[in-house]
Amino acid sequence: MAAAHTTNAGKMLYALSMHPSELHVVEPGSVVDLGAIDPGRTPGLSGSKEKERASAEAMHAENVVAMRDLQYRLWAEGGRSVLVVLQGMDTAGKDGTIRHVFGALNPQGVRVEGFKQPTSEELAHDYLWRIHRKTPGAGRIVVFNRSHYEDVLVVRVHGLVPEAVWQRRYEEINAFERLLAGSGTTILKVFLHISKDEQKERLQARLDDPAKRWKFSAGDLAERKRWGEYQQAYTEALSRCSTEHAPWFVVPADRKWYRNWAVSSIVRRALEQLDPQPPEAEFDPATVEID
Ligand code: AMP
Ligand code: MG
Repeated sequence: MAAAHTTNAGKMLYALSMHPSELHVVEPGSVVDLGAIDPGRTPGLSGSKEKERASAEAMHAENVVAMRDLQYRLWAEGGRSVLVVLQGMDTAGKDGTIRHVFGALNPQGVRVEGFKQPTSEELAHDYLWRIHRKTPGAGRIVVFNRSHYEDVLVVRVHGLVPEAVWQRRYEEINAFERLLAGSGTTILKVFLHISKDEQKERLQARLDDPAKRWKFSAGDLAERKRWGEYQQAYTEALSRCSTEHAPWFVVPADRKWYRNWAVSSIVRRALEQLDPQPPEAEFDPATVEID
């Protein structure tokens, strides 16, 4: 993008137009007001909706190509790693985001880990036990489809543990993420922010479309009834756990094309900042003879 703006006026425009990483980051220490963030907005884009969509799709496609090269370099470097945490209400688009943003990466270097209701073995341990073993090793990108944040979301909303227990988890999570970050893992946490109306449409689509029906669960309706409690629990998780070493991003997700572009932009930017470098050869290739 930057290269396209070669005139002075263009440079100024580029400096003024904000990147999704800056537009959506939750500043550490700030309190998020989800009610004030319209899930249908499309900041960073301008023009008619059709124009916005076309440019978001084109820039998303560019992001994916760039991510592929960066992933290759991360893998070759073989030291650092990236963890992307995806959270959102049912139908927020976690699966679609994984398909569109990470689907084109080399499967050798990327893994998706989903976290559902804990098994009895998992429940017999601390809540981070099942999480820690799925974090990325050197050179890898791991995407969490739900995460340890469920332990301050569904667990809090349903009172699955006493309040004193979930209250201390925010600090525990921050410490856990600091450990990962200090060990070479770049952490990006994305909340896919949809409206209650949009969820209604997407749930209805799951009912109406036989191909989508398998995704519908009656339990989703029970969770929907607690929408307000979830927004409250999210507000607290996003506010208390957005840190320098593991920032949260609130991505407006009612429009899938906006969501895809925003998330791929955030991931691409983080990979570019890592600027992974393949290790230098420890030998002089000119001296090697292959017979
Ligand atoms: P899905 O994402 O549709 O496959 O649903 C997974 C379900 O597992 C969601 O309803 C989550 O709330 C639930 N889940 C994930 N982690 C936990 C947890 N730690 N405790 C209780 N339920 C959880
Ligand atoms: Mg579900």
